[in-house]
Amino acid sequence: MNKIIYCPTCQDLKTLRKKLTRCVCGKAMGIMIDHNNAEINEHAIPVGLSTKTFQFAIQNRPSDGLGTPFTAFVMAENNKNITINKTLFVERSGEAQSVPST
Ligand SMILES: [Zn+2]
Repeated sequence: MNKIIYCPTCQDLKTLRKKLTRCVCGKAMGIMIDHNNAEINEHAIPVGLSTKTFQFAIQNRPSDGLGTPFTAFVMAENNKNITINKTLFVERSGEAQSVPST
């Protein structure tokens, strides 16, 4: 399942990758730690996308009309695969870093 972050400030949606991903305004950010687990900052709202229904919608894309729906959802506040990292930030290299809070 793809993990996406939504930014309530700029309304951007970004798919999380193993490299730090930020929204257009830069307030929401997150990174995939491994295949299933992600770290996001407090501003980001995690969104899940059902890969199965998305693939089905792509394969059943109509030639006209509204299109084929798929399943996406705003993840619960408590999700074992999502960690809120209050110290997530971007170094000049663009790599995500985490520092212990002081
Ligand atoms: Zn933003």
